[in-house]
Amino acid sequence: MLVFFRRALRKRCPQCGAGALFRAFARLHETCGSCGLRYRRESGAQTGAMYFCAAVTEIFAAALALGLYFLTDWSQSVALCVGTALVLGFSYLFLPVSMAWWTAVEYATDASNGEPWVKPRP
Ligand SMILES: [Zn+2]
Repeated sequence: MLVFFRRALRKRCPQCGAGALFRAFARLHETCGSCGLRYRRESGAQTGAMYFCAAVTEIFAAALALGLYFLTDWSQSVALCVGTALVLGFSYLFLPVSMAWWTAVEYATDASNGEPWVKPRP
């Protein structure tokens, strides 16, 4: 099952590892160009990716806020401006990672349930 996550985090199809997950930054292909696996089977299929991205970003923001408070002597307004920019940048850059991770979660769930459209390849 870890192979599904490794493939997805390399931005490859979790089923075959050959097809690309993304056609552009944070834009999934509809299907795998190699094996035909459908990445987005239904509308709202990436909602979990949004929650995951938001949760990780909040943890990053909390750690950053503590770091800025305890490790710098910046004024509140400077720390707020720098921190906000860093959190927004982190969230933007983390979104495709989150989408890839969520695609692997959905695929691993389908594979463990033995869904007929899933044909795992070693
Ligand atoms: Zn594939």
